[in-house]
Amino acid sequence: MLNLVFLGIQGSGKGTQARLLEKRHGFKHISMGELLRSNMKKRTSLGQSISKYMLRGELVPDEYIFPLIEKILQSDARGIIFDGFPRTIKQAEFMEERIPVNYAIFFDLDDDIAMKRLTARRVCRNCNQDYNLLLKPPKDNGNCDNCGGELVQRNDDHQEAIQRRIDIFHEQTKPLIDFFQERDKLVRIEASAKPEEIYNQLINRIKLQK
Ligand code: AMP
Repeated sequence: MLNLVFLGIQGSGKGTQARLLEKRHGFKHISMGELLRSNMKKRTSLGQSISKYMLRGELVPDEYIFPLIEKILQSDARGIIFDGFPRTIKQAEFMEERIPVNYAIFFDLDDDIAMKRLTARRVCRNCNQDYNLLLKPPKDNGNCDNCGGELVQRNDDHQEAIQRRIDIFHEQTKPLIDFFQERDKLVRIEASAKPEEIYNQLINRIKLQK
């Protein structure tokens, strides 16, 4: 099975596509952001150490990130979608020494569209299901379709932290486009299209059956 890296500014739909591939093709979806947020929610010692970076929209230092990746690779090293890792050249080099990557998918989206999408993003406080008031609104205004839980904004989805994440994406994550291009692994996807169109583009490019 393939190992995939998903690159893209927050709000570019990486998580949505990863969940579709997980459901339809049996990939294992590893979202670094989710993993870190769940540590914060459970107030683990890792969660307490990283919360200040997360809330400001800063990258969490590698001394916390690398052991998490090592642990994931101990139990599973095939058929993984890495969503949100690597985010720097240093992380990509760390990864390259440990696991083969078949494709790096770059979800290409303008900053202003990303900003609009992120400010409209909501998540269920109870089951974590994500919504977007513009693109994927809940049926019952204000509550989760799955469990009726309250929909809230992520605590890093405020204007200042969103802008910080966009800046970091350009400074630190965009160089990964060249990194994977040089290794002939880059697939660029136009991320302003509808989710099903993006999905179709994606599976054609990485040669998966529908
Ligand atoms: P995301 O859910 O992808 O939007 O990530 C949310 C936050 O988690 C980011 O703003 C960072 O603070 C942190 N984070 C996620 N992935 C990484 C990573 N690979 N390296 C460092 N920090 C990360």
